[in-house]
Amino acid sequence: RNSCVSDSSDSVISSGSDSDCQVYKVVLLGEHGVGKSSLARIFGGVEDSNDSEETGNTYDRSLVVDDEETSILLYDIWEQDNSQWLKDQCMRMGDAYIIVYSVTDKSSFEKASELRIQLRRARQSENIPIILVGNKSDLVRSREVSVDEGSACAVVFDCKFIETSASLHHNVRDLFEGIVRQIRLRKDSKEE
Ligand code: GDP
Ligand code: MG
Repeated sequence: RNSCVSDSSDSVISSGSDSDCQVYKVVLLGEHGVGKSSLARIFGGVEDSNDSEETGNTYDRSLVVDDEETSILLYDIWEQDNSQWLKDQCMRMGDAYIIVYSVTDKSSFEKASELRIQLRRARQSENIPIILVGNKSDLVRSREVSVDEGSACAVVFDCKFIETSASLHHNVRDLFEGIVRQIRLRKDSKEE
């Protein structure tokens, strides 16, 4: 368990529950160019910084969802280097995963399935929250993957599904609220 360290106030431990200060690690996975960093920057509230090719960022933010606050560390490090070590590390470290493909790129959709299978293999007995994300939903004319294909895939892989547009900020908030809700659900079912 993480220890409860607060740098923002003098009331270091204001509550008896350690869930109040636990930070959940959420890892972005997906092929190059699908929009991982764009989604991560929106989450981090820094989407205007235009270093789009920058890799290896981590964003730390608290979200209030359903009147409860949850701290998330979002890792956009999947493409930071090409080492197998990093990939293995990513597969091991997450409390939850966001697997992104682009609806304009069929091969990124197939890659998403592969990643889902790898993740299942790496974390066999664990029931980790995963959201499959079809990004770039604004690019209507170059769509190669339908909404139905996306949601059918999520059913097969037993995970949640959402389509987003990082460009239009469409559904991005719902995505991150969704991951928080899933983390809470899994946590509650574990504690029963
Ligand atoms: P990453 O390689 O997965 O981190 O992808 P990036 O976030 O760097 O995005 C790759 C390219 O796709 C960039 O040029 C983005 O501006 C563009 N992009 C990302 N999300 C969207 C989206 O929702 N719609 C459109 N039209 N372009 C997007
Ligand atoms: Mg990136």
